[in-house]
Amino acid sequence: MTESGAASNFIREMVLADHATGKHGGRVVTRFPPEPNGHLHIGHAKAICLNFGLAQSVPGGVCHLRFDDTNPTTEDPEYVKSIQDDVKWLGFDWHDKLFYASDYFERLYEVALDLIRKRHAYVDSLTADEMRTYRGTLTEPGKNSPYRDRSVDENLDLFAKMRRGQFPDGTHVLRARIDMGSPNLNLRDPVLYRIRHAAHYRTGSAWCIYPSYDYAHPLSDVIEGITHSVCTLEFEDHRPLYDWMVAHAHTSRTPQQIEFARLNVAHAVMSKRKLLELVDRSLVAGWDDPRLPTIKGLRRRGYTPEAIRNFCEHIGVSKRDSVIEMQLLEHFIREDLNKRSNRVMAVLRPLKIVIENYPEDLTEEMEAVNNPEDPTAGARTVPFSRTLYIERDDFLESPPKQFFRLAPDREVRLRYGYIIKCVGVVKDSTGTVTELRCTYDPETRSGGPQAQRKVKATIHWVSAAHAVEAEVRLYNPLLTADLAAIPAGSDWTTYVNPQSLERVHGCRVEPGLRDTVPGVRYQFERIGYFCVDPDSIPGKPVFNRTVSLKDACAKTGTLAAK
Ligand code: ATP
Ligand code: MG
Repeated sequence: MTESGAASNFIREMVLADHATGKHGGRVVTRFPPEPNGHLHIGHAKAICLNFGLAQSVPGGVCHLRFDDTNPTTEDPEYVKSIQDDVKWLGFDWHDKLFYASDYFERLYEVALDLIRKRHAYVDSLTADEMRTYRGTLTEPGKNSPYRDRSVDENLDLFAKMRRGQFPDGTHVLRARIDMGSPNLNLRDPVLYRIRHAAHYRTGSAWCIYPSYDYAHPLSDVIEGITHSVCTLEFEDHRPLYDWMVAHAHTSRTPQQIEFARLNVAHAVMSKRKLLELVDRSLVAGWDDPRLPTIKGLRRRGYTPEAIRNFCEHIGVSKRDSVIEMQLLEHFIREDLNKRSNRVMAVLRPLKIVIENYPEDLTEEMEAVNNPEDPTAGARTVPFSRTLYIERDDFLESPPKQFFRLAPDREVRLRYGYIIKCVGVVKDSTGTVTELRCTYDPETRSGGPQAQRKVKATIHWVSAAHAVEAEVRLYNPLLTADLAAIPAGSDWTTYVNPQSLERVHGCRVEPGLRDTVPGVRYQFERIGYFCVDPDSIPGKPVFNRTVSLKDACAKTGTLAAK
Protein backbone atom coordinates (compact mmCIF):
# COMPACT_ATOMS: atom_id res chain seq x y z
CA MET A 1 0.00 0.00 0.00
CA THR A 2 1.17 3.51 -0.76
CA GLU A 3 0.52 6.47 1.54
CA SER A 4 -2.52 7.47 -0.47
CA GLY A 5 -4.08 4.11 0.35
CA ALA A 6 -3.74 2.89 -3.21
CA ALA A 7 -2.32 -0.55 -3.81
CA SER A 8 0.99 -0.76 -5.58
CA ASN A 9 0.95 -0.29 -9.29
CA PHE A 10 4.34 -1.12 -10.75
CA ILE A 11 3.17 -0.12 -14.21
CA ARG A 12 2.29 3.38 -13.09
CA GLU A 13 5.71 3.71 -11.50
CA MET A 14 7.33 2.56 -14.74
CA VAL A 15 5.29 5.03 -16.79
CA LEU A 16 6.07 7.89 -14.42
CA ALA A 17 9.77 7.02 -14.57
CA ASP A 18 9.72 6.84 -18.39
CA HIS A 19 7.97 10.17 -18.52
CA ALA A 20 10.52 11.70 -16.17
CA THR A 21 13.51 10.42 -18.14
CA GLY A 22 12.03 11.40 -21.49
CA LYS A 23 11.79 7.87 -22.85
CA HIS A 24 9.44 7.74 -25.87
CA GLY A 25 10.09 11.48 -26.22
CA GLY A 26 8.32 12.03 -22.91
CA ARG A 27 5.05 10.84 -24.42
CA VAL A 28 2.68 8.45 -22.71
CA VAL A 29 0.17 6.85 -25.05
CA THR A 30 -1.75 3.78 -23.87
CA ARG A 31 -4.69 1.94 -25.35
CA PHE A 32 -7.59 -0.23 -24.32
CA PRO A 33 -7.97 -2.80 -27.12
CA PRO A 34 -11.19 -4.81 -26.77
CA GLU A 35 -12.31 -7.26 -29.37
CA PRO A 36 -15.97 -6.45 -30.16
CA ASN A 37 -17.10 -10.05 -29.67
CA GLY A 38 -18.89 -9.64 -26.35
CA HIS A 39 -19.78 -7.20 -23.63
CA LEU A 40 -17.27 -5.93 -21.10
CA HIS A 41 -16.97 -7.34 -17.60
CA ILE A 42 -15.30 -6.39 -14.35
CA GLY A 43 -11.97 -7.79 -15.60
CA HIS A 44 -12.08 -5.39 -18.52
CA ALA A 45 -12.88 -2.61 -16.05
CA LYS A 46 -9.52 -3.32 -14.46
CA ALA A 47 -7.78 -2.94 -17.82
CA ILE A 48 -9.79 0.21 -18.62
CA CYS A 49 -9.01 1.85 -15.27
CA LEU A 50 -5.38 0.90 -15.68
CA ASN A 51 -4.89 2.16 -19.23
CA PHE A 52 -6.93 5.35 -18.92
CA GLY A 53 -5.51 5.88 -15.44
CA LEU A 54 -1.93 5.64 -16.73
CA ALA A 55 -2.66 8.27 -19.36
CA GLN A 56 -4.17 10.52 -16.70
CA SER A 57 -1.14 10.14 -14.46
CA VAL A 58 1.08 12.37 -16.61
CA PRO A 59 0.44 15.70 -18.31
CA GLY A 60 -0.48 15.20 -21.94
CA GLY A 61 -1.03 11.45 -21.49
CA VAL A 62 -3.47 9.90 -23.95
CA CYS A 63 -5.39 6.64 -23.97
CA HIS A 64 -6.83 5.25 -27.19
CA LEU A 65 -9.89 3.10 -27.51
CA ARG A 66 -9.03 0.59 -30.21
CA PHE A 67 -11.33 -2.10 -31.43
CA ASP A 68 -9.17 -5.11 -32.05
CA ASP A 69 -11.49 -6.32 -34.78
CA THR A 70 -9.45 -8.69 -36.91
CA ASN A 71 -11.70 -11.72 -36.56
CA PRO A 72 -14.64 -11.52 -38.98
CA THR A 73 -16.74 -14.35 -37.61
CA THR A 74 -17.45 -13.28 -34.03
CA GLU A 75 -17.55 -9.50 -34.12
CA ASP A 76 -20.60 -7.31 -34.19
CA PRO A 77 -21.34 -3.55 -34.26
CA GLU A 78 -23.72 -4.06 -31.35
CA TYR A 79 -20.68 -4.86 -29.19
CA VAL A 80 -18.78 -1.85 -30.53
CA LYS A 81 -21.52 0.44 -29.32
CA SER A 82 -21.97 -1.35 -26.02
CA ILE A 83 -18.24 -1.21 -25.26
CA GLN A 84 -18.16 2.53 -25.92
CA ASP A 85 -21.16 3.03 -23.63
CA ASP A 86 -19.52 1.03 -20.88
CA VAL A 87 -16.17 2.83 -21.07
CA LYS A 88 -17.99 6.18 -20.90
CA TRP A 89 -20.17 5.02 -18.05
CA LEU A 90 -17.07 4.01 -16.12
CA GLY A 91 -16.03 7.64 -16.42
CA PHE A 92 -13.36 7.58 -19.12
CA ASP A 93 -13.04 9.51 -22.35
CA TRP A 94 -10.96 8.65 -25.39
CA HIS A 95 -11.78 12.05 -26.94
CA ASP A 96 -11.02 11.70 -30.66
CA LYS A 97 -8.77 8.70 -30.20
CA LEU A 98 -11.15 6.02 -31.41
CA PHE A 99 -9.53 3.45 -33.68
CA TYR A 100 -10.25 0.15 -35.38
CA ALA A 101 -7.60 -2.40 -36.24
CA SER A 102 -9.71 -3.16 -39.33
CA ASP A 103 -8.87 0.34 -40.59
CA TYR A 104 -5.26 -0.81 -40.80
CA PHE A 105 -5.86 -3.85 -43.02
CA GLU A 106 -4.36 -2.19 -46.07
CA ARG A 107 -1.30 -0.98 -44.15
CA LEU A 108 -0.83 -4.34 -42.51
CA TYR A 109 -0.94 -5.90 -45.96
CA GLU A 110 1.75 -3.49 -47.15
CA VAL A 111 3.95 -4.40 -44.19
CA ALA A 112 3.45 -8.08 -45.04
CA LEU A 113 4.62 -7.46 -48.60
CA ASP A 114 7.68 -5.74 -47.20
CA LEU A 115 8.38 -8.68 -44.87
CA ILE A 116 8.12 -11.07 -47.83
CA ARG A 117 10.49 -8.95 -49.92
CA LYS A 118 13.03 -8.95 -47.11
CA ARG A 119 12.63 -12.72 -46.72
CA HIS A 120 11.12 -12.31 -43.24
CA ALA A 121 7.87 -13.95 -44.27
CA TYR A 122 6.75 -16.76 -46.54
CA VAL A 123 3.62 -18.50 -47.72
CA ASP A 124 3.30 -21.93 -46.19
CA SER A 125 1.08 -24.60 -47.69
CA LEU A 126 1.23 -27.31 -45.04
CA THR A 127 -2.09 -28.49 -43.71
CA ALA A 128 -3.01 -27.41 -40.19
CA ASP A 129 -2.17 -30.88 -38.90
CA GLU A 130 1.19 -30.90 -40.61
CA MET A 131 1.98 -27.48 -39.27
CA ARG A 132 1.29 -28.71 -35.77
CA THR A 133 3.65 -31.65 -36.22
CA TYR A 134 6.37 -29.45 -37.70
CA ARG A 135 6.02 -27.03 -34.84
CA GLY A 136 7.63 -29.38 -32.31
CA THR A 137 6.93 -29.28 -28.60
CA LEU A 138 8.18 -27.53 -25.51
CA THR A 139 10.99 -30.09 -25.28
CA GLU A 140 11.65 -30.68 -28.98
CA PRO A 141 12.57 -28.10 -31.58
CA GLY A 142 10.38 -27.64 -34.63
CA LYS A 143 11.27 -28.47 -38.24
CA ASN A 144 11.42 -26.13 -41.16
CA SER A 145 8.49 -26.36 -43.53
CA PRO A 146 9.41 -27.55 -47.03
CA TYR A 147 7.83 -24.29 -48.28
CA ARG A 148 10.06 -22.09 -46.12
CA ASP A 149 12.52 -21.34 -48.88
CA ARG A 150 10.10 -20.32 -51.58
CA SER A 151 11.44 -17.46 -53.66
CA VAL A 152 10.35 -13.90 -52.95
CA ASP A 153 8.54 -13.78 -56.27
CA GLU A 154 6.65 -16.99 -55.64
CA ASN A 155 5.68 -15.76 -52.17
CA LEU A 156 4.52 -12.42 -53.53
CA ASP A 157 2.50 -14.15 -56.20
CA LEU A 158 0.88 -16.61 -53.80
CA PHE A 159 0.13 -13.95 -51.22
CA ALA A 160 -1.49 -11.76 -53.86
CA LYS A 161 -3.62 -14.72 -54.93
CA MET A 162 -4.54 -15.39 -51.31
CA ARG A 163 -5.79 -11.84 -51.09
CA ARG A 164 -7.70 -12.10 -54.37
CA GLY A 165 -9.61 -15.06 -53.03
CA GLN A 166 -8.10 -17.65 -55.35
CA PHE A 167 -7.65 -20.25 -52.60
CA PRO A 168 -10.10 -21.86 -50.21
CA ASP A 169 -9.81 -21.47 -46.43
CA GLY A 170 -6.95 -23.35 -44.82
CA THR A 171 -4.90 -23.99 -47.94
CA HIS A 172 -2.16 -21.43 -47.31
CA VAL A 173 -0.98 -19.12 -44.56
CA LEU A 174 1.57 -16.35 -44.38
CA ARG A 175 4.19 -17.03 -41.72
CA ALA A 176 7.00 -15.00 -40.24
CA ARG A 177 10.40 -16.53 -40.92
CA ILE A 178 11.98 -16.47 -37.49
CA ASP A 179 13.37 -19.64 -35.95
CA MET A 180 11.81 -23.12 -35.88
CA GLY A 181 14.39 -24.11 -33.27
CA SER A 182 13.54 -21.35 -30.82
CA PRO A 183 12.78 -22.54 -27.28
CA ASN A 184 9.89 -20.04 -27.40
CA LEU A 185 7.14 -21.66 -29.46
CA ASN A 186 5.76 -18.27 -30.36
CA LEU A 187 8.90 -17.58 -32.38
CA ARG A 188 8.62 -20.78 -34.45
CA ASP A 189 7.49 -19.04 -37.60
CA PRO A 190 4.16 -17.74 -36.27
CA VAL A 191 1.20 -17.33 -38.59
CA LEU A 192 0.63 -13.74 -39.76
CA TYR A 193 -2.33 -14.24 -42.11
CA ARG A 194 -5.03 -16.85 -42.62
CA ILE A 195 -7.46 -17.26 -45.46
CA ARG A 196 -11.04 -16.79 -44.28
CA HIS A 197 -13.81 -16.30 -46.74
CA ALA A 198 -16.00 -14.45 -44.31
CA ALA A 199 -17.55 -10.99 -44.35
CA HIS A 200 -16.35 -8.53 -41.75
CA TYR A 201 -18.78 -6.16 -40.02
CA ARG A 202 -16.77 -3.13 -41.14
CA THR A 203 -14.81 -4.12 -44.23
CA GLY A 204 -17.55 -6.28 -45.70
CA SER A 205 -16.21 -8.62 -48.38
CA ALA A 206 -13.12 -6.53 -49.16
CA TRP A 207 -10.86 -9.11 -47.54
CA CYS A 208 -10.66 -12.86 -47.42
CA ILE A 209 -7.33 -12.95 -45.59
CA TYR A 210 -7.21 -11.77 -41.99
CA PRO A 211 -4.20 -10.95 -39.80
CA SER A 212 -3.47 -12.88 -36.62
CA TYR A 213 -3.50 -11.18 -33.23
CA ASP A 214 0.29 -11.50 -32.91
CA TYR A 215 0.71 -9.69 -36.19
CA ALA A 216 -2.01 -7.04 -36.02
CA HIS A 217 -1.59 -6.07 -32.40
CA PRO A 218 2.03 -4.82 -32.30
CA LEU A 219 1.65 -3.15 -35.67
CA SER A 220 -1.53 -1.39 -34.55
CA ASP A 221 0.45 -0.12 -31.56
CA VAL A 222 3.18 1.11 -33.90
CA ILE A 223 0.70 2.79 -36.26
CA GLU A 224 -0.97 4.62 -33.37
CA GLY A 225 2.28 5.60 -31.67
CA ILE A 226 1.46 3.69 -28.49
CA THR A 227 4.27 3.94 -25.94
CA HIS A 228 3.13 1.49 -23.25
CA SER A 229 1.17 -1.51 -24.46
CA VAL A 230 -0.31 -3.06 -21.37
CA CYS A 231 -1.75 -6.56 -21.59
CA THR A 232 -2.47 -9.57 -19.42
CA LEU A 233 0.08 -12.10 -18.28
CA GLU A 234 -0.72 -14.81 -20.81
CA PHE A 235 0.97 -12.64 -23.44
CA GLU A 236 4.29 -12.57 -21.60
CA ASP A 237 5.62 -15.38 -23.82
CA HIS A 238 4.49 -13.43 -26.85
CA ARG A 239 6.62 -10.41 -25.93
CA PRO A 240 9.70 -11.54 -27.95
CA LEU A 241 7.40 -11.85 -30.95
CA TYR A 242 5.88 -8.45 -30.22
CA ASP A 243 9.39 -6.99 -30.15
CA TRP A 244 10.31 -8.86 -33.34
CA MET A 245 7.31 -7.39 -35.11
CA VAL A 246 8.13 -3.88 -33.91
CA ALA A 247 11.79 -4.27 -34.94
CA HIS A 248 10.81 -5.48 -38.40
CA ALA A 249 8.21 -2.78 -38.96
CA HIS A 250 11.01 -0.33 -39.72
CA THR A 251 9.82 2.45 -37.56
CA SER A 252 11.37 4.75 -35.02
CA ARG A 253 8.42 4.01 -32.78
CA THR A 254 9.08 1.35 -30.19
CA PRO A 255 6.06 0.58 -28.05
CA GLN A 256 6.88 -1.62 -25.09
CA GLN A 257 4.65 -4.43 -23.95
CA ILE A 258 4.05 -4.69 -20.21
CA GLU A 259 2.08 -7.54 -18.67
CA PHE A 260 -0.05 -7.68 -15.54
CA ALA A 261 -2.12 -10.38 -13.87
CA ARG A 262 -5.72 -10.52 -14.99
CA LEU A 263 -8.49 -10.06 -12.49
CA ASN A 264 -10.20 -13.25 -11.39
CA VAL A 265 -13.22 -13.09 -9.14
CA ALA A 266 -14.22 -16.18 -7.17
CA HIS A 267 -17.51 -17.76 -8.25
CA ALA A 268 -17.89 -15.27 -11.11
CA VAL A 269 -18.28 -16.16 -14.77
CA MET A 270 -15.86 -13.94 -16.67
CA SER A 271 -15.07 -15.74 -19.89
CA LYS A 272 -16.90 -14.25 -22.84
CA ARG A 273 -17.63 -17.69 -24.20
CA LYS A 274 -19.25 -18.81 -20.95
CA LEU A 275 -21.14 -15.55 -20.57
CA LEU A 276 -22.46 -15.99 -24.09
CA GLU A 277 -23.51 -19.54 -23.27
CA LEU A 278 -25.49 -18.33 -20.24
CA VAL A 279 -27.23 -15.71 -22.38
CA ASP A 280 -27.86 -17.98 -25.37
CA ARG A 281 -29.28 -20.75 -23.22
CA SER A 282 -31.48 -18.25 -21.34
CA LEU A 283 -29.91 -19.24 -18.04
CA VAL A 284 -29.79 -15.51 -17.32
CA ALA A 285 -32.03 -12.70 -18.54
CA GLY A 286 -29.42 -11.18 -20.86
CA TRP A 287 -26.01 -9.51 -20.84
CA ASP A 288 -27.26 -7.03 -18.27
CA ASP A 289 -28.60 -9.64 -15.89
CA PRO A 290 -27.71 -8.26 -12.45
CA ARG A 291 -26.15 -11.61 -11.50
CA LEU A 292 -23.43 -11.23 -14.12
CA PRO A 293 -20.13 -9.45 -13.53
CA THR A 294 -20.59 -7.61 -16.83
CA ILE A 295 -20.44 -3.82 -16.64
CA LYS A 296 -24.05 -3.76 -17.82
CA GLY A 297 -25.07 -6.31 -15.20
CA LEU A 298 -23.31 -4.47 -12.40
CA ARG A 299 -24.82 -1.21 -13.56
CA ARG A 300 -28.33 -2.62 -13.62
CA ARG A 301 -27.74 -4.08 -10.21
CA GLY A 302 -26.93 -0.62 -8.86
CA TYR A 303 -23.15 -0.47 -8.89
CA THR A 304 -21.67 2.98 -9.38
CA PRO A 305 -18.69 3.75 -11.63
CA GLU A 306 -16.94 5.24 -8.59
CA ALA A 307 -17.24 1.99 -6.64
CA ILE A 308 -15.81 -0.02 -9.54
CA ARG A 309 -12.97 2.44 -10.03
CA ASN A 310 -12.17 2.44 -6.31
CA PHE A 311 -12.17 -1.35 -6.33
CA CYS A 312 -9.80 -1.47 -9.31
CA GLU A 313 -7.49 1.04 -7.66
CA HIS A 314 -7.52 -0.92 -4.44
CA ILE A 315 -6.69 -4.30 -5.96
CA GLY A 316 -3.77 -2.71 -7.78
CA VAL A 317 -1.68 -4.35 -10.43
CA SER A 318 0.69 -7.22 -10.01
CA LYS A 319 2.51 -9.94 -11.89
CA ARG A 320 1.02 -12.65 -9.74
CA ASP A 321 -2.28 -14.34 -10.51
CA SER A 322 -4.78 -14.18 -7.70
CA VAL A 323 -8.46 -14.62 -7.08
CA ILE A 324 -10.43 -11.80 -5.52
CA GLU A 325 -13.54 -12.48 -3.47
CA MET A 326 -16.80 -10.87 -4.56
CA GLN A 327 -17.10 -9.48 -1.03
CA LEU A 328 -14.30 -7.07 -1.78
CA LEU A 329 -16.20 -5.56 -4.68
CA GLU A 330 -19.28 -5.46 -2.46
CA HIS A 331 -17.33 -3.60 0.17
CA PHE A 332 -16.62 -0.80 -2.29
CA ILE A 333 -20.18 -0.44 -3.49
CA ARG A 334 -21.43 -0.38 0.08
CA GLU A 335 -18.93 2.29 0.99
CA ASP A 336 -19.98 4.44 -1.95
CA LEU A 337 -23.72 3.94 -1.54
CA ASN A 338 -23.52 4.68 2.15
CA LYS A 339 -22.38 8.17 1.22
CA ARG A 340 -24.71 8.82 -1.67
CA SER A 341 -27.99 7.00 -1.29
CA ASN A 342 -31.09 8.23 0.43
CA ARG A 343 -32.61 6.06 3.14
CA VAL A 344 -36.18 4.93 2.72
CA MET A 345 -38.43 2.43 4.42
CA ALA A 346 -39.48 -0.68 2.55
CA VAL A 347 -41.05 -3.86 3.84
CA LEU A 348 -40.10 -6.94 1.84
CA ARG A 349 -42.39 -9.48 3.52
CA PRO A 350 -45.25 -7.50 5.01
CA LEU A 351 -47.06 -8.32 8.23
CA LYS A 352 -50.06 -6.13 8.96
CA ILE A 353 -50.36 -4.41 12.29
CA VAL A 354 -53.35 -2.48 13.57
CA ILE A 355 -52.79 0.12 16.28
CA GLU A 356 -56.01 -0.15 18.23
CA ASN A 357 -55.77 3.14 20.12
CA TYR A 358 -54.75 5.21 17.07
CA PRO A 359 -57.60 7.23 15.51
CA GLU A 360 -59.12 5.59 12.42
CA ASP A 361 -59.17 8.71 10.29
CA LEU A 362 -55.81 10.19 11.28
CA THR A 363 -52.70 10.33 9.13
CA GLU A 364 -49.62 12.01 10.54
CA GLU A 365 -46.60 13.04 8.52
CA MET A 366 -43.46 11.86 10.26
CA GLU A 367 -40.25 13.66 9.54
CA ALA A 368 -37.48 11.37 8.25
CA VAL A 369 -33.84 12.14 7.50
CA ASN A 370 -32.85 11.29 3.93
CA ASN A 371 -29.21 10.56 4.51
CA PRO A 372 -27.45 10.98 7.84
CA GLU A 373 -24.12 10.80 5.97
CA ASP A 374 -25.02 13.75 3.79
CA PRO A 375 -26.40 16.89 5.46
CA THR A 376 -27.34 18.33 2.05
CA ALA A 377 -29.72 15.44 1.36
CA GLY A 378 -32.44 17.01 3.54
CA ALA A 379 -35.52 15.37 4.97
CA ARG A 380 -38.92 14.12 3.87
CA THR A 381 -42.12 13.09 5.57
CA VAL A 382 -43.57 9.61 5.74
CA PRO A 383 -47.28 9.04 6.45
CA PHE A 384 -48.21 7.19 9.64
CA SER A 385 -51.64 5.71 10.21
CA ARG A 386 -53.56 3.13 12.20
CA THR A 387 -52.76 0.20 9.91
CA LEU A 388 -49.15 -0.41 9.05
CA TYR A 389 -46.94 -3.11 7.61
CA ILE A 390 -43.83 -4.29 9.35
CA GLU A 391 -41.33 -6.92 8.28
CA ARG A 392 -42.63 -10.41 9.06
CA ASP A 393 -39.17 -11.26 10.42
CA ASP A 394 -39.45 -8.52 13.01
CA PHE A 395 -42.09 -10.44 14.95
CA LEU A 396 -41.80 -13.77 16.74
CA GLU A 397 -44.55 -15.27 18.79
CA SER A 398 -42.14 -17.17 21.03
CA PRO A 399 -38.92 -15.19 20.82
CA PRO A 400 -35.62 -16.73 21.86
CA LYS A 401 -33.46 -14.87 24.35
CA GLN A 402 -31.50 -12.87 21.83
CA PHE A 403 -34.54 -11.59 19.93
CA PHE A 404 -35.38 -8.02 20.96
CA ARG A 405 -37.89 -7.07 18.33
CA LEU A 406 -41.66 -7.40 18.44
CA ALA A 407 -43.31 -10.23 20.36
CA PRO A 408 -46.51 -10.54 22.40
CA ASP A 409 -46.53 -7.93 25.19
CA ARG A 410 -43.25 -6.53 23.91
CA GLU A 411 -42.49 -2.97 22.90
CA VAL A 412 -40.45 -1.70 19.95
CA ARG A 413 -39.93 1.72 18.49
CA LEU A 414 -41.16 2.39 14.99
CA ARG A 415 -38.47 4.33 13.17
CA TYR A 416 -39.42 8.06 13.07
CA GLY A 417 -42.63 7.16 14.87
CA TYR A 418 -43.97 5.89 18.16
CA ILE A 419 -43.26 3.11 20.55
CA ILE A 420 -45.83 0.38 20.05
CA LYS A 421 -46.71 -2.71 22.03
CA CYS A 422 -48.07 -5.97 20.67
CA VAL A 423 -51.30 -6.81 22.50
CA GLY A 424 -52.79 -9.51 20.29
CA VAL A 425 -52.02 -11.97 17.53
CA VAL A 426 -54.48 -12.93 14.80
CA LYS A 427 -53.99 -16.23 12.95
CA ASP A 428 -55.64 -18.01 10.07
CA SER A 429 -56.91 -21.59 10.13
CA THR A 430 -53.40 -22.92 9.40
CA GLY A 431 -51.96 -21.14 12.40
CA THR A 432 -50.11 -18.54 10.33
CA VAL A 433 -49.99 -15.10 11.88
CA THR A 434 -51.97 -12.73 9.64
CA GLU A 435 -52.17 -9.62 11.76
CA LEU A 436 -50.89 -8.10 14.98
CA ARG A 437 -53.00 -5.97 17.27
CA CYS A 438 -50.95 -3.23 18.90
CA THR A 439 -51.25 -0.09 20.99
CA TYR A 440 -49.09 2.99 20.76
CA ASP A 441 -47.82 5.50 23.30
CA PRO A 442 -48.64 9.00 21.93
CA GLU A 443 -45.98 10.61 24.12
CA THR A 444 -43.14 8.79 22.39
CA ARG A 445 -43.27 10.56 19.05
CA SER A 446 -40.17 12.46 18.02
CA GLY A 447 -40.37 15.85 19.81
CA GLY A 448 -42.83 14.44 22.35
CA PRO A 449 -42.18 14.23 26.13
CA GLN A 450 -41.24 10.53 25.92
CA ALA A 451 -39.31 10.76 22.68
CA GLN A 452 -36.13 9.59 24.34
CA ARG A 453 -37.67 6.61 26.09
CA LYS A 454 -35.48 3.62 25.33
CA VAL A 455 -36.65 0.27 24.06
CA LYS A 456 -34.46 -2.53 22.85
CA ALA A 457 -35.24 -2.35 19.13
CA THR A 458 -36.29 0.03 16.41
CA ILE A 459 -37.96 -1.41 13.34
CA HIS A 460 -39.07 0.02 10.00
CA TRP A 461 -42.62 0.15 8.69
CA VAL A 462 -44.87 1.61 6.04
CA SER A 463 -48.46 2.83 6.22
CA ALA A 464 -50.73 0.21 4.64
CA ALA A 465 -53.05 2.69 2.97
CA HIS A 466 -50.25 4.82 1.56
CA ALA A 467 -47.56 2.30 0.69
CA VAL A 468 -46.76 1.34 -2.88
CA GLU A 469 -46.63 -2.27 -3.92
CA ALA A 470 -43.29 -3.29 -5.39
CA GLU A 471 -41.33 -6.25 -6.59
CA VAL A 472 -37.91 -6.77 -5.09
CA ARG A 473 -35.27 -8.97 -6.71
CA LEU A 474 -32.72 -10.52 -4.42
CA TYR A 475 -29.51 -11.93 -5.84
CA ASN A 476 -27.27 -14.70 -4.66
CA PRO A 477 -24.11 -16.06 -6.31
CA LEU A 478 -24.82 -17.33 -9.81
CA LEU A 479 -22.75 -20.49 -9.40
CA THR A 480 -22.81 -22.92 -6.53
CA ALA A 481 -19.13 -23.75 -7.09
CA ASP A 482 -16.10 -21.88 -8.26
CA LEU A 483 -15.46 -22.55 -11.94
CA ALA A 484 -11.94 -23.66 -11.16
CA ALA A 485 -13.32 -26.35 -8.85
CA ILE A 486 -15.78 -27.81 -11.37
CA PRO A 487 -14.44 -31.10 -12.73
CA ALA A 488 -13.27 -30.91 -16.32
CA GLY A 489 -15.67 -32.55 -18.73
CA SER A 490 -18.75 -31.95 -16.63
CA ASP A 491 -21.38 -29.44 -17.73
CA TRP A 492 -20.53 -26.31 -15.75
CA THR A 493 -24.00 -24.89 -16.31
CA THR A 494 -25.44 -27.53 -13.97
CA TYR A 495 -23.77 -25.46 -11.23
CA VAL A 496 -26.00 -22.48 -11.93
CA ASN A 497 -27.59 -21.70 -8.58
CA PRO A 498 -31.40 -22.04 -8.83
CA GLN A 499 -31.63 -19.63 -5.91
CA SER A 500 -29.45 -17.03 -7.57
CA LEU A 501 -32.51 -14.90 -8.31
CA GLU A 502 -35.31 -14.60 -5.80
CA ARG A 503 -38.24 -12.45 -6.88
CA VAL A 504 -40.20 -11.16 -3.95
CA HIS A 505 -43.65 -9.90 -4.91
CA GLY A 506 -46.05 -7.89 -2.81
CA CYS A 507 -43.40 -5.81 -1.08
CA ARG A 508 -44.46 -2.40 0.20
CA VAL A 509 -42.37 0.74 -0.09
CA GLU A 510 -43.02 4.25 1.18
CA PRO A 511 -45.20 6.40 -1.11
CA GLY A 512 -42.39 8.67 -2.30
CA LEU A 513 -41.07 5.77 -4.37
CA ARG A 514 -44.21 5.40 -6.48
CA ASP A 515 -42.76 7.04 -9.57
CA THR A 516 -39.11 6.57 -8.97
CA VAL A 517 -37.11 6.06 -12.16
CA PRO A 518 -34.77 3.25 -13.23
CA GLY A 519 -31.23 3.63 -12.01
CA VAL A 520 -32.08 5.51 -8.78
CA ARG A 521 -30.44 3.95 -5.76
CA TYR A 522 -31.72 3.76 -2.19
CA GLN A 523 -30.82 2.29 1.10
CA PHE A 524 -33.81 0.36 2.39
CA GLU A 525 -33.35 0.94 6.08
CA ARG A 526 -32.06 -2.12 7.93
CA ILE A 527 -32.05 -4.22 4.72
CA GLY A 528 -29.58 -3.14 2.09
CA TYR A 529 -28.94 -1.04 -0.96
CA PHE A 530 -31.38 -1.24 -3.84
CA CYS A 531 -31.58 0.16 -7.34
CA VAL A 532 -34.69 0.75 -9.46
CA ASP A 533 -34.82 -1.73 -12.33
CA PRO A 534 -35.79 -0.80 -15.90
CA ASP A 535 -38.63 -3.36 -15.64
CA SER A 536 -40.44 -0.87 -13.40
CA ILE A 537 -43.66 0.66 -14.64
CA PRO A 538 -45.21 3.82 -13.15
CA GLY A 539 -46.80 2.98 -9.84
CA LYS A 540 -45.26 -0.51 -9.82
CA PRO A 541 -41.56 -0.19 -9.15
CA VAL A 542 -39.11 -3.09 -9.31
CA PHE A 543 -35.97 -2.95 -7.17
CA ASN A 544 -32.73 -4.90 -7.45
CA ARG A 545 -30.80 -5.59 -4.31
CA THR A 546 -27.34 -4.26 -5.06
CA VAL A 547 -25.87 -5.49 -1.82
CA SER A 548 -26.99 -6.19 1.72
CA LEU A 549 -26.01 -3.89 4.56
CA LYS A 550 -23.55 -6.00 6.43
CA ASP A 551 -19.95 -6.00 5.35
CA ALA A 552 -18.14 -9.31 5.70
CA CYS A 553 -14.84 -7.70 4.65
CA ALA A 554 -14.90 -5.04 7.32
CA LYS A 555 -15.89 -7.58 9.95
CA THR A 556 -13.42 -10.30 9.16
CA GLY A 557 -10.63 -7.90 8.35
CA THR A 558 -10.01 -9.45 4.93
CA LEU A 559 -9.85 -5.96 3.50
CA ALA A 560 -6.90 -4.95 5.61
CA ALA A 561 -5.20 -8.31 5.29
CA LYS A 562 -5.25 -8.25 1.49
P1 ATP B 1 -10.78 -13.10 -25.41
O1 ATP B 1 -10.51 -14.38 -24.74
O2 ATP B 1 -11.96 -13.09 -26.30
O3 ATP B 1 -9.57 -12.42 -25.98
P2 ATP B 1 -10.65 -11.04 -23.47
O4 ATP B 1 -11.43 -11.01 -22.21
O5 ATP B 1 -9.19 -11.06 -23.45
O6 ATP B 1 -11.25 -12.24 -24.23
P3 ATP B 1 -10.50 -8.65 -25.05
O7 ATP B 1 -11.57 -7.94 -25.77
O8 ATP B 1 -9.34 -9.12 -25.83
O9 ATP B 1 -11.17 -9.84 -24.34
O10 ATP B 1 -10.02 -7.78 -23.84
C1 ATP B 1 -9.66 -6.43 -23.98
C2 ATP B 1 -8.62 -6.08 -22.97
O11 ATP B 1 -9.08 -6.35 -21.65
C3 ATP B 1 -7.35 -6.88 -23.18
O12 ATP B 1 -6.27 -5.99 -23.17
C4 ATP B 1 -7.31 -7.80 -22.01
O13 ATP B 1 -6.01 -8.01 -21.60
C5 ATP B 1 -8.11 -7.08 -20.93
N1 ATP B 1 -8.77 -8.04 -20.05
C6 ATP B 1 -9.64 -9.00 -20.40
N2 ATP B 1 -9.99 -9.74 -19.33
C7 ATP B 1 -9.34 -9.22 -18.27
C8 ATP B 1 -9.27 -9.55 -16.88
N3 ATP B 1 -9.97 -10.56 -16.36
N4 ATP B 1 -8.48 -8.80 -16.08
C9 ATP B 1 -7.79 -7.76 -16.59
N5 ATP B 1 -7.79 -7.42 -17.88
C10 ATP B 1 -8.56 -8.12 -18.72
MG1 MG C 1 -8.14 -10.89 -25.64
